[in-house]
Amino acid sequence: MECDQPKEKRINTDSSTNVSEELKNWMRKNEIATIPESEMILRYSEKEHRELLGASPWTKDPHYFKLCKISAVALLKMLIHANSGGNIEVMGLMLGKIDETTMIIHDVFALPVEGTETRVNAHTQAYEYMSKYVNDKQHVQRLENAIGWYHSHPGYGCWLSGIDVGTQSLHQQFEEPYVAIVVDPVRTKSTGKVNIGAFRTFPKGYLPSHEEAAEYQSIPIEKIEDFGVHANQYYQLDIEVFTTQTDQNMLKSLWNKYWPSTLSMSSLHDNRKYLTNSINDVGAKIELIAEKVSKQGYGSAAGVNPAAGMNKLNKVIVDAEKIFQEVQTGLHMQNLKRDIFSSFLH
Ligand SMILES: [Zn+2]
Repeated sequence: MECDQPKEKRINTDSSTNVSEELKNWMRKNEIATIPESEMILRYSEKEHRELLGASPWTKDPHYFKLCKISAVALLKMLIHANSGGNIEVMGLMLGKIDETTMIIHDVFALPVEGTETRVNAHTQAYEYMSKYVNDKQHVQRLENAIGWYHSHPGYGCWLSGIDVGTQSLHQQFEEPYVAIVVDPVRTKSTGKVNIGAFRTFPKGYLPSHEEAAEYQSIPIEKIEDFGVHANQYYQLDIEVFTTQTDQNMLKSLWNKYWPSTLSMSSLHDNRKYLTNSINDVGAKIELIAEKVSKQGYGSAAGVNPAAGMNKLNKVIVDAEKIFQEVQTGLHMQNLKRDIFSSFLH
């Protein structure tokens, strides 16, 4: 008994140090900045908000909002929610404010809706809940406004599908200012870096003057059409994540919830279906190119995409490299986990 006691104490200290260390790593990897409490982006003023609504500068410029700042607490809440859905899409509401051309997300909460990409009535159900919440929040002294919605794309990247474009356009007609955030919990787990995107749709009939050279992202073959048809109906905002000293305790307690679903499980094991699908997807894309090359010759089959400045073959190479990096991250996490847990045993 005597020699068990100090060992028990040492385990607890090591464990909490490692958890905080991992939280710090995660913050570094995702470039999360700690800002002073005095920052204006943390303050909300109903008067300022009303004045802004009166002026509505976003109606004059479809590209008005440029940046989306998300609090680390809100980000972790979204990730925990998205993870809890597994392969099913989940959805939630975001609260915050506007600071000139920046949309600031202070907090988020989950909506009791699943399968948003496939179920037609999922959104109606969400709207009913949302409007009830927005009315009720006055009674619990939450004054910030609903500033957008988030949902998950498990394993297929961050972009807006046809259904998403429709939903976001409606919000922008009736609930401005509003932003759509998409988070991919599976790719986040695979790379350790949060896979997230913030989007605004263009007004109906508006054609962007030039296609933006967005960074290429891997889209599974069965989603490419949906992605391609709607890709120029919206644009992506830059994202920055911030935290404050006051948020630290909340962040740690959320991290304790989030951490077990990332590091303490093997991403290789957890994501094996996703990794196998990704490998099959690369195979299917190569076959499609090979088929076209044999029919039409290389030049016409390779199809250069001006937006991404890449041909189809290069894209497949990027997809394959992504899988390699994800497997490598999985192995790295496995080693890290072994080091952490084996230190408990000695
Ligand atoms: Zn979607």
